[in-house]
Amino acid sequence: MTYSELYQTARRILQESGNDAAVYEARCLMQELMGIDRIRLIADGGRIVPAEQEQRLIKAAERRADGYPLQYLLGCWTFMGREFAVGEGVLIPRDDTEVAVMTCREALRDCPKARIADLCSGSGIIAVTLAGMLPQAEVTALELQEAAFGYLQKNIAMNGCTNVKALQGDLFTAHTLFADGSLDAIISNPPYIAREVLPTLQKEVQFEPAAALDGGDDGLDFYRCLASDWTAKLRKGGSMTLEIGEEQAADVMALLSAHGMGELRAVQDIQGLDRVIFGTKI
Ligand code: GLN
Repeated sequence: MTYSELYQTARRILQESGNDAAVYEARCLMQELMGIDRIRLIADGGRIVPAEQEQRLIKAAERRADGYPLQYLLGCWTFMGREFAVGEGVLIPRDDTEVAVMTCREALRDCPKARIADLCSGSGIIAVTLAGMLPQAEVTALELQEAAFGYLQKNIAMNGCTNVKALQGDLFTAHTLFADGSLDAIISNPPYIAREVLPTLQKEVQFEPAAALDGGDDGLDFYRCLASDWTAKLRKGGSMTLEIGEEQAADVMALLSAHGMGELRAVQDIQGLDRVIFGTKI
């Protein structure tokens, strides 16, 4: 089979599975797994593919057709212009998270040397992106899960971030490691899906770690902890930026308001849905 035929085959496998981004995804697979980009596909399309490479690509296309996430097959994904390693055991970056990053960054415009904690950091997209935008800031990225922590460390190194420190620990206990009033900003995209909703989410999500999604019975467990145990770690005037599920704004604002946070507001994503709660320490 030639490279061109292999690409057509992968595209057809994806199309037949109902994938409406089949062209894009087949190109991504060719590029990341074979090193054949669009230009080389034209220039070298007639060359014969080594048999084991052919099998590898077809297998990947078939797994994708079964709902396995594209990002895990590629092993990397882009967030706000930076590249991040991803794979099983870590949540895949979502563009929605840009709302949280930009909200936090805006709050720190007069605080270039901010001490920032990114809690439930996962692959580290928030910590690494903020650290890149604020090179004088000091970012601590907290992550509990072993696999995700490995990706976090890798992504810090891969992006050349010298101002992010990875810390392996649990949101529910690690607050004891921080002095009261010692942070200028806390940001988090915690697990927020209500447990019973998890099995109903789309097939791709079922391959992602439940630990990164499961927010307890009502989805709010992590916000309760963020409000009760972490707000004290902010200095007066410090900010908290929390990514939320679209129906959680009122609940999360009530939790923060009960623990000394003011100027609370919801920020909407590109679809107009509430995506972030922002507040400052009174
Ligand atoms: N946005 C993710 C989803 O809907 C959830 C991420 C999270 O729980 N923080 O799958």
